[in-house]
Amino acid sequence: MLGLMQEQPLLISSLIEFAERHNGEVEIVSRRVEGDIHRYTYRDAAVRARQVANALDALGLAFSDRVATLAWNGYRHFELYYGVSGSGRVLHTINPRLHPDQIAWIANHAEDQVLCFDLSFLPLVQAVHSRCPTIKHYIALCAPDKLPADSGVPNLTSYESWIAAQSTQYQWPTFDENSASSMCYTSGTTGNPKAALYSHRSSTLHAYAAALPDVMCLSARDSVLPVVPMFHVNAWGIPYSAALTGCKLVFPGPAMDGKSIYELMETERVTYAAGVPTVWQMLLGHLKPNNLKFSTLKRTVIGGSACPPAMIAAFQNDYGVEVLHAWGMTEMSPLGTLCTLKNRQLALNADEQMKIRLKQGRAIYGVDMKIVDDAGRELPWDGKAYGDLLVKGPWIVREYFKGEGGNPLIKDEHGVQWFPTGDVGTIDADGFLQITDRSKDVIKSGGEWISSIEIENIAMAHPAVAMAACVGMAHPKWDERPIVAVVKRVGMDVSVAELLKFYEGKTAKWQIPDDVVFVDAIPLGATGKMLKTRLREQLKDYKLPTT
Ligand code: ADP
Repeated sequence: MLGLMQEQPLLISSLIEFAERHNGEVEIVSRRVEGDIHRYTYRDAAVRARQVANALDALGLAFSDRVATLAWNGYRHFELYYGVSGSGRVLHTINPRLHPDQIAWIANHAEDQVLCFDLSFLPLVQAVHSRCPTIKHYIALCAPDKLPADSGVPNLTSYESWIAAQSTQYQWPTFDENSASSMCYTSGTTGNPKAALYSHRSSTLHAYAAALPDVMCLSARDSVLPVVPMFHVNAWGIPYSAALTGCKLVFPGPAMDGKSIYELMETERVTYAAGVPTVWQMLLGHLKPNNLKFSTLKRTVIGGSACPPAMIAAFQNDYGVEVLHAWGMTEMSPLGTLCTLKNRQLALNADEQMKIRLKQGRAIYGVDMKIVDDAGRELPWDGKAYGDLLVKGPWIVREYFKGEGGNPLIKDEHGVQWFPTGDVGTIDADGFLQITDRSKDVIKSGGEWISSIEIENIAMAHPAVAMAACVGMAHPKWDERPIVAVVKRVGMDVSVAELLKFYEGKTAKWQIPDDVVFVDAIPLGATGKMLKTRLREQLKDYKLPTT
């Protein structure tokens, strides 16, 4: 017997319709590429998203055709999120930090038909357009008077004139909720990038889950600043969850420096922010010397790479801001786990709580996870056994776009399919995941694994250390030994011996790195994560000290 409830596909258009109808007056504030602050409401955004949908119809785009963006976090990008997906086309957000060759490659692979870009990325578009034959229309996200003359970019229109010509009326179409809504390519550090192709169903379910109290805890009382970019994994789903909850949205545009972010947080009374550790490093670096405090910020979700304990402590102890450590990946839309304490853990002392907060957290309903050994056998949840982390759930990829890379899933002994994350971690008895490494970054010393994240976290706790990256170096006896590459804080000094001494008592003796190498910078990838492959190349002539 089937249930007798209404059938309504979960479609992205329903989010903006809901926001317009129930929270239409709530503000969306953006720092623009033009430099000024733009302000309007969900109601205005919904109207303009409908104009985008009409404009795409006018271009003759078919259902599922791809519309690409090269854009910062801002209101026009937000309108494209809804106008493109809501009308049945697929939004392809491109990471502008990728190499131009890679951008051309993925635009061709995705067969993008339209490219909408912020003017900051005009040079990039000029560099790649001749190599992107599928793109028929270029839309610059600006008013007509800002459109550059003689740009050399064919069929270039300003976004404002493009949508101004369109009606504000549009009936969002109804279709299968499993239809593709947006896509995002993984950074492709190994081989060509592969695309996760999200569906309306997966994005809507993810939006629901992300808003839950033990996840991002978004509400109509929040003012939310996503520093995490809309060009990568849909800004952790915040543009969708925001419309679902009716929170105020504050978009930072191109200005990611500590001063600009802080000013926006204060003027827009931001209560909640989301970003990767490198961004928060810049923010904290601005606050301290200027003796500033937050007047409204309460919570910040930090993920994308391991959040150093010193950062959690600084936010919490110096500024009274709760850090929610999160883990996920492009293939997971991206949220997998979030670290919020359980009731009985609230009674623990500060040190014990901190040990938990450092973990990547508990699975969100909709994500199942397990750790397995090399033979695929499930390992216990004891916080000690570590193994390959496998996940499954309705917002996790089944396969990549165009079947790239073959079937990524693996079957367990019950025939259940799991996605291998490429991460290695432990899970404790309370279900808290702790990532110890990417599997390709794992350091094996004398048959035992050393967590590079743990080694980095200890170095980062030293006041003179701005950034640390731990890699394994080949060793004749132990296979590999860890060394740590360190960027010193400006104006501060520390010696190799001092830093190695700093490790004593903080980790097992055999896990203490063999050496410290001071570097000017740690190479970062397109999503702001440390590129250890590049670091290893830079250190290829390095020799371990012989003692
Ligand atoms: P995203 O773009 O969401 O960061 P990517 O697919 O680029 O996703 O990278 C995902 C990988 O980043 C994960 O598999 C994991 O190795 C790493 N990662 C993400 N969050 C964390 C975290 N909180 N701690 C440690 N590693 C993390």
